[in-house]
Amino acid sequence: MVPGEVYAAVFDSLIGMLADTYNVLPLDDALELRRAGKLPPRAVVITFDDGYEDNFSVALPILKRHGVVAAFFVASGFLSGGMMFNDRVRETIRLTQRDELNLDWLDLSVRKLGPVETRERLVEELLRRIKYMSLDVREAALVRLEADAGVSLPTGMMMSPAQLRGLADAGMIVGGHTVNHPILSVLDDKGAREEIERNRDELGSILGHVPRFFAYPNGKPGADYSARDVELVRQAGYEAAFSTSIGSVGPESDVFQLPRFTPWDRTAGRFALRLAHNFLRVGAPQLVESVR
Ligand SMILES: [Zn+2]
Repeated sequence: MVPGEVYAAVFDSLIGMLADTYNVLPLDDALELRRAGKLPPRAVVITFDDGYEDNFSVALPILKRHGVVAAFFVASGFLSGGMMFNDRVRETIRLTQRDELNLDWLDLSVRKLGPVETRERLVEELLRRIKYMSLDVREAALVRLEADAGVSLPTGMMMSPAQLRGLADAGMIVGGHTVNHPILSVLDDKGAREEIERNRDELGSILGHVPRFFAYPNGKPGADYSARDVELVRQAGYEAAFSTSIGSVGPESDVFQLPRFTPWDRTAGRFALRLAHNFLRVGAPQLVESVR
């Protein structure tokens, strides 16, 4: 089997297990039941972030086969052949034919590229440098890096507008995730509002209806978004929003900062870690579990 098929098989068995063991609910139903205090035991919602193409080509057929509805939070700026900034860095370093790169301008000196492990370490260092830059500075850094590396990046890593419509037509829920996947907390008020509202409008015109739910990019409370951003999401008309802080949704949870968790990272052992990695590669499905 090619790696993609392995991920698909693992994802299939996870979804099968969830469907057998838990009450997998569509996000809208789960929130409605929670409001009414009527959530069933072992309620689970499945969510995906970002809008990767494999959400459509790999995950959707499996979800449909198991009769499960998931929610997909989509950054709308990459739907026409674009790529998320972290993937741009990763693909650039993976694909470059250069023997070394001069990264003095990022305070990372001249780096030999070498084998896969060296490249992966360099990717992590680069991401740490680039992640919290403002959008303009980040874009300029990416353009320079790609030019220095002499690569042209592949397209098709993210869903197209037609695929996104396909998700919604299949009964899946599509939610907001900003346009360019910035760290909201580094943007000024105007920039943050624009990212949230333009994303809502772009998704709305693709889907023919306004998205109702939102997930903060990167999603760590305080570091990646602030109280200001929570307020902007509320003002944009959203009904609920998700962070990436780890936890289960309880009666006390703020509906505009609902936590999530990936259940496999609670299980010790290498196999679980490898599974977690595989699932991340199939588009980072994450779960929300209700309290019993
Ligand atoms: Zn994301």
